[in-house]
Amino acid sequence: MTVRVRFAPSPTGMFHVGGARSALQNWIFAKQQGGVFVLRIEDTDAARNRPEWTEGILSALDWIGIARGSYEGPYFQSSYAGEHRAAAQRLYEGGRAYYCDCTRDDVQARTGPQQRGYDGFCRDRGLEPGEGRALRFRTPDEGETVVVDLVRGEPTFENKLIEDFVIARGDGSPVFLLANVVDDMSMGITHVIRAEEHLPNTPKQQLLWDALGVKPPVWAHVPVVVNEKRQKLSKRRDKVALEAYRDEGYLADAMRNYLMLLGWAPSGDREIVPWPVIEEEFRLDEVNPSPAFFDEKKLRAFNGDYIRALPVADFVEACRPWLIGTGTIAPPPWRPDEFDPAAFAAVAPLAQTRIAVLSEIVPNVDFLFLADPLIDEAAWAKAMKEGAADLLDAAIAAFEALESWDAESLKATLEAVGAERGLKLGKAQAPVRVAVTGRTVGLPLFESLEVLGRDRTLTRLRAARVRLV
Ligand code: GLU
Repeated sequence: MTVRVRFAPSPTGMFHVGGARSALQNWIFAKQQGGVFVLRIEDTDAARNRPEWTEGILSALDWIGIARGSYEGPYFQSSYAGEHRAAAQRLYEGGRAYYCDCTRDDVQARTGPQQRGYDGFCRDRGLEPGEGRALRFRTPDEGETVVVDLVRGEPTFENKLIEDFVIARGDGSPVFLLANVVDDMSMGITHVIRAEEHLPNTPKQQLLWDALGVKPPVWAHVPVVVNEKRQKLSKRRDKVALEAYRDEGYLADAMRNYLMLLGWAPSGDREIVPWPVIEEEFRLDEVNPSPAFFDEKKLRAFNGDYIRALPVADFVEACRPWLIGTGTIAPPPWRPDEFDPAAFAAVAPLAQTRIAVLSEIVPNVDFLFLADPLIDEAAWAKAMKEGAADLLDAAIAAFEALESWDAESLKATLEAVGAERGLKLGKAQAPVRVAVTGRTVGLPLFESLEVLGRDRTLTRLRAARVRLV
């Protein structure tokens, strides 16, 4: 039997990192089993769906390596409404479901506010279908439902504790629980790998599989992803959108490696491993069922390692979207005609070791492309203390006299200027750096001045000097 898995997101918001993790786990599992990965967009909640979110899911999946065209689908759940209704009808006709006209208030009036769930009032009333009547599944009174779960063993649910749940609303529309099962069935899904939050649905869904006469899939409920306070990652509180990480300049390779470490680790004492190793070593039954901490700091450090490991040419290429501002990435502060690719290539190796996410490239190199540097006033106040004017005068004079405009000569020159004033190089550099780059920290100063060139450097030093008068 061919293994068939599916990833079934609902397009109701930005694409959640937890969703990306489940997608990757499905993807790898399918690959390992020689199986098929199906993408199904669960777009039945018309009020909350938006087409741009579907597009966002497709492009985010593409970004992390689940490329369009290399999987089956996307299918859209809304196209299968007829099948969902037919299944509801079959369950009704087979006596596995019944109509119910109770309102929530009716139920509460009978059971009291404490008791949750439906009390079975309409079970044997034999109501016909009708406007406002919901269809409820008749759960077995006895026995138990054993869910075979690759991550969690065999969670077992007593049937008598499962209420007669609704499968189609009063307007006849089937609910998510049923639509999801019917689609899995008709798409031949053998393994359902999804987030733990769906586990409470699983015994109900398994009962539906049984009632519809099809062998249920094997399940795998992977752990929820939590923040540092052990709260489930939420889009209101936490940065959860995969797109946000992409636009900030996380590398897809770093991101997908990190996502796979949520609840699982490769062999040995390694965390950063080539993707083929993850694809080979990952085992669903090794996934730790407890909540997985999404540690943004660790992800950042990871990303920095991935950036440093890139060949320089790839790094230059990877920075491009931030240097020119494409798609959803904010444009840089310089005009397109101010950007100089050769100057960028010259400083790229220096920047590569200093940034953890690609968007940080912009403040590191803006001094090269802007006509005037963006002066950080706090940095200015800190660097331009007593003696700064004198130091700048001397530096300007010495730099003007330089024969060769290279980093080494610039360094030796400023070192000498500083020494004459009893200043170590670090102290002597500060006013020069702020005058030229606008900041107190950045790329190595002398290499920066070399690339910026004699004229532009001197112009900036003189402008700073004028400001100090
Ligand atoms: N559409 C559901 C969700 O986005 C997924 C259901 C499932 O994987 O079974 O949470």
